[in-house]
Amino acid sequence: MPEGDSLRRAARRLQVLAGERVEVETPHPRAAAKHLAERLDGLRLETVEAVGKHLLLRFEGGLVLRSHLRMSGRWRVDPRGMPRSGRPWLVLRGARHEGVLWNGPVLELVRDLGAAGRLGPDILDDPPALGAMLQRLRSVPQDREVGDALLDQRLVAGIGNLWKAESLWEARVSPWRALADVGDTELIAVLEAAHRLMRGSVEGERGTRRVYRRAGRACRRCGTVVRSYGQGEAARTAYWCPGCQRGGREPVS
Ligand SMILES: [Zn+2]
Repeated sequence: MPEGDSLRRAARRLQVLAGERVEVETPHPRAAAKHLAERLDGLRLETVEAVGKHLLLRFEGGLVLRSHLRMSGRWRVDPRGMPRSGRPWLVLRGARHEGVLWNGPVLELVRDLGAAGRLGPDILDDPPALGAMLQRLRSVPQDREVGDALLDQRLVAGIGNLWKAESLWEARVSPWRALADVGDTELIAVLEAAHRLMRGSVEGERGTRRVYRRAGRACRRCGTVVRSYGQGEAARTAYWCPGCQRGGREPVS
């Protein structure tokens, strides 16, 4: 059984990923069912620490992934891209290393309560606090691109790169439009779409991806070729259809 010391060793090995934006995958079906990759993919891993029998991985935006290893769980750190057989629970892939969790029976995402005050209203709240979200989105400089603002966890908590792309597509709003240029009705439509799609996902609906990771393929609504391009300071990839999500300072390819 992993004891405190082995947890501390795991935490020490995982330090190579601290401070990096990580790609997150959940190859094991039981882990995939928790929808962790959708929430965490592309976020910066801020700290890793062993607390009691838990390993706490703290991500930007106040999300904390708690891993309890029980009898069988084991964290490894491998060079990025190392071939492996079998399906680990979780892969956190940085620029040069990847942290891999095998057999992690307890894995849950919690909120860092210390950071709660800094977080926007949670998009998964039912019903979502759309008015409060709108207020926060209107409190920042309005030349900011809507696609960038949607990922700012201080404005709206919980929208990751996947649901940003899908909800903007649903509402026919280009990620490149400045907030100033997006009306309240349109912003609410984007937030409602994000809420609906994400609640569906939490409840196990297997929705069809409309634009996310579909660059170069035809838009399912209008047939225009879907594009992708890095957006915001972190250059996280935005996906959009230039045919039915028009306007804004669309990047030249
Ligand atoms: Zn389209």
